[in-house]
Amino acid sequence: MNYDVHIVGAGVSGGVAGYHLAKKGLDTVITEEDAEIGIPQHCTGIISVKGLEESGFSYKKCIINKLYGVHIHGPYGETLTIRKKSVQAYIVDRAELDRLYVGMAEKAGAHIITGRKVKAREDYLGKIIIGADGANSTVAQIERFEPIKKYAFGYQELVRSKDIINEGMVSVYLSQKAFPGFFGWVAPLDDGIALCGFGVSGGHLVTGRMRALFSMARIRPQKILKRLGGVMPFGTRKCNAKNNVILIGGAGGFSKATSGGGVYFSTISAKVAAECIAKNKIDEFDRSMEKHIKELKKHEYIRYLYNLSADIMIEMLIRAGKPLGIAKYIEEKGDMDYISSIIP
Ligand SMILES: Cc1cc2nc3c(=O)[nH]c(=O)nc-3n(C[C@H](O)[C@H](O)[C@H](O)COP(=O)(O)OP(=O)(O)OC[C@H]3O[C@@H](n4cnc5c(N)ncnc54)[C@H](O)[C@@H]3O)c2cc1C
Repeated sequence: MNYDVHIVGAGVSGGVAGYHLAKKGLDTVITEEDAEIGIPQHCTGIISVKGLEESGFSYKKCIINKLYGVHIHGPYGETLTIRKKSVQAYIVDRAELDRLYVGMAEKAGAHIITGRKVKAREDYLGKIIIGADGANSTVAQIERFEPIKKYAFGYQELVRSKDIINEGMVSVYLSQKAFPGFFGWVAPLDDGIALCGFGVSGGHLVTGRMRALFSMARIRPQKILKRLGGVMPFGTRKCNAKNNVILIGGAGGFSKATSGGGVYFSTISAKVAAECIAKNKIDEFDRSMEKHIKELKKHEYIRYLYNLSADIMIEMLIRAGKPLGIAKYIEEKGDMDYISSIIP
């Protein structure tokens, strides 16, 4: 117990928490099970401009592509396009972003130890523990936090194909038959290369689904350069802080059940955790996260309604939404992190 705070996991949330704690003068260590920060990567790296700006770090070197909007493809071919005039999000190199955030923590004075997995309480190095160890959190299990029961499994491939055109738009493919409980996506990094993937809600098999995505997206892959995958939690728990332990980021379930995007709310939870620890008020963490959890609950509700819908219904909603001007409404009011911007 040499350190004031031991952060388990050197991802984005561990890095942000470490940065703020070290800045506040707490003796902080971040331990990471893998030998290299950011590797293996599992995330697509689509993060809102706002989310990256709020980090306060110079993230520009991590940018791979700019995104202006989304093409939403229905199960039977109807498409709704939402495109804003300004850049809404970036696709970043997630490994590079992890290195940036953890590097900032180190510069602020936090100690970083790689290649060290926490398996039990005996491995703790601090008086206060932050579980920043992702969706399969070992800290959550050691400390017997209530498990998060709803989740999706995401799988993606880095694909080279002449059929991929970079228009600065991500394409989303909705089909309960092809991707039960989630969706497929094509996120272009440049002309001819994209991260193509899909999610399925817990319990569904993944076999054959990549083929379905390529067929819907009309992509003939020429080369698969990488394969990545991981778990996306669909909802947080009531209590993420007790005694001397706080769960943040993926470990706390702080991600959007609509898209699986978690970096934005993960970094918010990391900052809030650092503030509570600095004030010596760990028990205030859950209360301090309430307004963000309220927002995430809306994402959960939309996910719940979507998952009840049959493919024909989804197609009809897209078709009906077009003449009603839904795209224009979202272009004017929408915010990819705050669903309250369009659904109060
Ligand atoms: C397929 C897929 C695509 C995604 N795409 C997006 C996207 O486009 N945009 C977005 O915002 N979000 C996306 N997400 C979600 C995003 O990846 C997470 O919300 C985010 O990574 C959470 O950050 P974190 O730092 O809390 O956890 P993680 O990034 O999971 O980092 C946890 C770290 O802890 C380490 N660790 C784990 N266990 C231990 C242990 N016992 N001891 C020591 N170290 C340990 C891990 O090695 C890892 O480095 C995606 C997720 C998946 C699965």
